Amino acid sequence: MKKYLLKVYRLSKRILKRLRNYVLIAWQPVYHATGAKLECNVCKSQFNQFDSDLWHAHCNCPVCGSSVRLRLLVAALEHTEKFAYANIIQNKRILHFAPERPLGELLKKRAASYQTADFLAEGYSYKHIDHNIDISNMHSINDASYDCVIACDVLEHVPDDLKGIREVHRILNMGGVCIFTVPQKDHLKTTFEDDHVTDKKERERLFGQEDHLRIYGEDFVERMTSAGFTVSTLDENDFSAQMVTRNVLFPPILSTHPLATNYRKIFFGLKTSSDPS
Ligand SMILES: [Zn+2]
Repeated sequence: MKKYLLKVYRLSKRILKRLRNYVLIAWQPVYHATGAKLECNVCKSQFNQFDSDLWHAHCNCPVCGSSVRLRLLVAALEHTEKFAYANIIQNKRILHFAPERPLGELLKKRAASYQTADFLAEGYSYKHIDHNIDISNMHSINDASYDCVIACDVLEHVPDDLKGIREVHRILNMGGVCIFTVPQKDHLKTTFEDDHVTDKKERERLFGQEDHLRIYGEDFVERMTSAGFTVSTLDENDFSAQMVTRNVLFPPILSTHPLATNYRKIFFGLKTSSDPS
């Protein structure tokens, strides 16, 4: 009975959320005409409050579901010169890991080719995935096949993440760019990992989620440089205070969870040499 009630509760919650989204979408002309406080720079919807999740209050777009990291990335593509659409996406060959659909829509219409990748359990079908591959073993993809590879919050799931970063380096063309985000504990210097920890509950306690294999520190950049990339890091400080508030590029309320990533960063890696240094 309890199980049944829980199922009904969850279903009702989903239906209510869907209905609210329809109202928000229908209401968009009014929000745009009157000027709502906030705007999602991914789907361009406007409203006065973002949704909350288990980690952060008021950080997710109620229409497309975009998170802070995705909006930071779109802000970089729209408002920086170095990482503008025109430089790294327009007419380029893109490979997007664990693809976030709203971001994919923005990339697809600009790229020369747009392909998606994920590592899925055998027998699991997902029609939007072009390559069912492990990022740390992409033997089916030739060297220098892409100009841009995107993997947001993927590497923390990969046992040999350094091998994954090296593989991304290999499949990128010279001058190509990778874009990574990873969960990082605030102010943690050195990445914490322990491959002896296999218990799901213990992984959640130590790394933040039952399928996470580590919690990254500030040394993530070194993992990228050791794989041969020249790295640039971008965060909310690269944008005006007005844009940060309007597009919620930083949590309006900091999470007190000890493993929360309050200070999101986007890591851009430029391939400047053919072999890892
Ligand atoms: Zn949105």
